[in-house]
Amino acid sequence: TTILGIESSCDESAAAIYTGDRGLVAHALHSQVALHADYGGVVPELASRDHIRKLTPLIERVLDDAGRPELSGIAYTRGPGLVGALLVGASIAAGLGMSRNLPVLGVHHMEGHLLSPLLEPDGPQFPFVALLVSGGHTLLVQVDGVGRYRVLGQSLDDAVGEAFDKSAKMLGLGYPGGPALAALAQQGRADAHAFPRPMLKRPGLDFSFSGLKTAVMLAIKAAPATAAARADIAASFEQAVVDTLVAKCRRALKQTGVSRLVVAGGVGANRSLRRALDDSATADGFSLHFPRAEFCTDNAAMIALVGYLRRDDMRAGIASADATPRWSLDTLAPPLTAAP
Ligand code: ATP
Ligand code: MG
Ligand code: FE
Repeated sequence: TTILGIESSCDESAAAIYTGDRGLVAHALHSQVALHADYGGVVPELASRDHIRKLTPLIERVLDDAGRPELSGIAYTRGPGLVGALLVGASIAAGLGMSRNLPVLGVHHMEGHLLSPLLEPDGPQFPFVALLVSGGHTLLVQVDGVGRYRVLGQSLDDAVGEAFDKSAKMLGLGYPGGPALAALAQQGRADAHAFPRPMLKRPGLDFSFSGLKTAVMLAIKAAPATAAARADIAASFEQAVVDTLVAKCRRALKQTGVSRLVVAGGVGANRSLRRALDDSATADGFSLHFPRAEFCTDNAAMIALVGYLRRDDMRAGIASADATPRWSLDTLAPPLTAAP
C-alpha cells in the first residue's frame, strides 16, 4: 500500500508518501509564513493562490523522492480549515484520483495531528490521551483507536496557539509570534507576574485563554517599556499556560485511568511545556509521546499516515472536490477495518 498525502488547510502546502512496509518515505513542505507576515495573520485569498502555485510541484517532488512508486490511493485534508485553501487540495486530489484512476479519501486535519506520534518508530499504543494544542484548537481527547475519539475538554474561547500569537503581537513580536514569545520568555522571570491560571479551580477539562490575554494586555500597559519588563511578561504568560495545560493533562489521565499522553500541534514544540510535562510524567508515572518537531506543525506526513490507516475507507471515482471547513472530531467513526 502506497498513499500520497496532501495538506492545504491553512498556510502550509505539503505532500508526503507513506507506505505499508516502509512507513514514511518522502515528505515536502512549503510554508507561507513570509507571504502573510506583512499582514499580521493569514490572508485567506493569498493562501489559496499560493497553494495553487506550490502543491503540484511539491507532489511531483515527493513522487520523485520516493522513486515514482505505484500509488494505491490519495489522502487529502478535507477540513477543518480555510475553505478556499481546502478546496485547492481537494480539487488536486480529486483530479489526480480521476486521471490516475485512484481512490481518494478526505481526512480530518485534527485526526492527522492526533495520530502524528504514530509516525515515529516508538509511537504510543492505544489507548492514549491526546493534548492537541495548535493555532486553531485546544483539545483533550481520549483515543481508544483509529477513529475512536472522545473529546474530554476544549477551549471555550481562544486556542492556546492563538493566545501565544495575540500576546506576542501585543509585545511587538511579529507573526506568528508563538516561537518568538517562547524565545523572549527564556530571558524573563516566570514569577514576575501572577497571571491567572484559567479554569483550574473549576472541575472539568475545558480551557479558557481570553482572560489570560487580557491580563497580559494590562500588564504591558502598566510595565515600563524595557526589554527586561517585556521578557518578564512573556515568561509569566508562558508559565501560566504551561501550568494550566499540565494540570489539565494530569486531571484527564487520572479521570480516564489512561497512562499514555500524546502532545501534538504547534504549541507542542514549546520547550517549557515539554520540560514540565516530562517532569510530571516522571512524578506521576505516565508515558509521554511527541511527534518529531517538524511534524508538530502542519504537514502532509500525518495526512498520508491517516490515509494509510483508513485505506479501506478510500473511495474510487470521487468526481467533486469535497471540503468541510467546520468539522467536529467527535463525528468520526473507526475505519472499515482498523489496523495500525
Ligand atoms: P490548526 O491545526 O488548529 O488548524 P494550525 O495548523 O495553524 O492550527 P499549527 O501549525 O499546529 O496550527 O501550530 C501553529 C501554532 O503553534 C501557532 O499559533 C504558533 O504560534 C504556535 N507555536 C509554534 N511553536 C511554538 C512554540 N515554541 N511555543 C509556543 N507556541 C508555538
Ligand atoms: Mg500553520
Ligand atoms: Fe494544524
